[in-house]
Amino acid sequence: MALAPESGRIREKLVRAVSRVRRKLSFPGRFRRRGGVPIPRFLRDFRVPLAATLAAVAAVAGTYLAAEQHVLAETRTYYKVLVNGQFAGEISSRELVAGLIEDTRKRLEEANLHTKVRYALREPEIAFLSEKAYKAEPDDEETLRRVAASLETYPVGVKLFIDGKLVGVVRDEQTANALLERVKDRYTNDLEPAAKPEVRVLSFQAGSTDGGSDSSVGNAGEDTEPAPERRLLSVGFVETVSVVQAVISADEVQDPEELYEMLVTGDPAPVKYTVQPGDCISCIAQKLNVPKELIYRNNPWIQNDLIRVGDELDLTQEKPLLNVETAELVTRTEAIQPQVVYQDDNQLIKGQTKVISQGKPGEQLVTYRVVRLNGQPVEEEQLSVQVLSPAVPKIIARGTKVVRGVGTGKFAMPVLNYRITSNFGQRWGRQHKGIDIIGNKNIMAADNGVVEFAGKKNGLGNAIIIDHQNGFKTVYGHLSKISVKKGQAVEKGQVIGIMGSTGNSTGVHLHFEIHKNGKVKNPKDYL
Ligand SMILES: [Zn+2]
Repeated sequence: MALAPESGRIREKLVRAVSRVRRKLSFPGRFRRRGGVPIPRFLRDFRVPLAATLAAVAAVAGTYLAAEQHVLAETRTYYKVLVNGQFAGEISSRELVAGLIEDTRKRLEEANLHTKVRYALREPEIAFLSEKAYKAEPDDEETLRRVAASLETYPVGVKLFIDGKLVGVVRDEQTANALLERVKDRYTNDLEPAAKPEVRVLSFQAGSTDGGSDSSVGNAGEDTEPAPERRLLSVGFVETVSVVQAVISADEVQDPEELYEMLVTGDPAPVKYTVQPGDCISCIAQKLNVPKELIYRNNPWIQNDLIRVGDELDLTQEKPLLNVETAELVTRTEAIQPQVVYQDDNQLIKGQTKVISQGKPGEQLVTYRVVRLNGQPVEEEQLSVQVLSPAVPKIIARGTKVVRGVGTGKFAMPVLNYRITSNFGQRWGRQHKGIDIIGNKNIMAADNGVVEFAGKKNGLGNAIIIDHQNGFKTVYGHLSKISVKKGQAVEKGQVIGIMGSTGNSTGVHLHFEIHKNGKVKNPKDYL
């Protein structure tokens, strides 16, 4: 765009004219230093700020035109403008076109702030053909209007890929990133990030040993365990996510809210199930091959596994497109259950126990590293345990004293390899006061005791009655042989006679009764 080489004289005059213009307009220093350069050059270099440039272009152009008219004896340079190869008109300055394009771009950027779909300016191919003519007066305004009309825009957006697969389109990167953050937030909202987890844990421990210990011990007995402290260590997507700027078609842009739902749920078809007779939670889980946890999670109204025929269960299984893995540090105060310590006590009858002291649970601070997938724990690792207050053991005395002839209160079956042939209760219109047993022929004492009776009894034939000296007595009937004597102490399991069919009996068996405080009882309740 250099001026014609032959016009050295004209150029000199032009330079002088420009100096005048410059003084008049008092341009900034940068402008002034370039005084020797022809106007179009430094106008082209002077790009920002645009408004100032445009004003300057107008002002300079106006003054320039006036000066030129005076100096150049009516000979002017102007340009033919070609947009994308098409003639658009004539213009007095190339910068007017550049300014128009720049201005259009700016307006578009501003408009983009408020629209659902963003548009970019398709870069036009602009060519200028330099012309010179006497008294040329190009219609700048009309040419600029035509250039403006030939400018084109196209929709742009951001594509969201998960593991290389396109899952959605949003208007811009900011929207995409906000969406991804929101998916992460869904599982980390209640967690505070841990800047320096180790330091935090140590300071927490130190704090609880001075001053905090009294109240925490006081709480130990009650069921008011403080909520665990959770601190976020890391959060990330299981899948590879990429956000890519792209040319799109305007109707591709999605509502971020819908896209969010799809990312976190996979938009599954709802599945309902009506409880049938005989159903239970585990049965349904097994029958329909869904995890039990899903049933509980989707149907929080279920209490104590109680479901009724006709209840409708939501069994919809979400298949998130984006899975969030979080690692967190969980610090929990846990009870330490007291150890049980037995002490032998020779004052206490063998088989009996007595609690000497209940003991007291202790408290410990346990730190775990918990990995969760979409909020559900998948891994838990215990990192440290700090005992805040040790547990006090529970002490139980255990009797060692053996007293002959006193029962333990617990009965053993008097026959080995036994089979019960007749039960306690009504039989043939009469009360059957015991049970009939067959099996090994040796009859054993059902518990420790003293023989109260050994001999013949009406109906029972050869019979033995043992007084266990604790309110219980046992009766053994129909024996073929009696091996003990009245007043003799017997031990539980000791053979006291041989099975037979004496007395009112139709076959070899043992008739066995248990009496408690003088009343006959069903032996089956004690064996
Ligand atoms: Zn009987």
